[in-house]
Amino acid sequence: MVRSICPYCAVGCGQKVFVKDERVVQIEGDRDSPISRGRLCPKGAASAGYVNSPLREQKVKYRPPHGTEWQELELETAMDMIAERVIGTREESWEDVNGDGQPLRRTLGFAVLGGATLDSEENYLIKKFFSAAGAVSIENQARI
Ligand code: SF4
Repeated sequence: MVRSICPYCAVGCGQKVFVKDERVVQIEGDRDSPISRGRLCPKGAASAGYVNSPLREQKVKYRPPHGTEWQELELETAMDMIAERVIGTREESWEDVNGDGQPLRRTLGFAVLGGATLDSEENYLIKKFFSAAGAVSIENQARI
């Protein structure tokens, strides 16, 4: 058994994940969690099905501009593509000063929109990273 956090929403209920023969066989609420004290809502209680679903995507999917079909990409390739686009957009859209010469040091070229499956620690790091990169528009359901 390993302890985890339900991935579905920002409540962050504690889970006990039971593993047998390298397969998740059961997920239950964790009584030791101060957040949920052993409880899970129906979505969290059904998350073993989410882990084991044959419909679960295991590969990065990419649809190029004007493409009509999804392509599979290696994770490394997809990460490089994202990094190149973030760096390129930042360079192209960087605003160092306004018309009066006052410092702006920002980009409006990209924004960050997070979902509730990100936990507080991930959101903290995303906020720090994109603020340091000059992004202004940063939002997440969890609203940290
Ligand atoms: S069990 Fe339900 S309420 Fe708790 S984190 Fe998961 S989805 Fe949210």
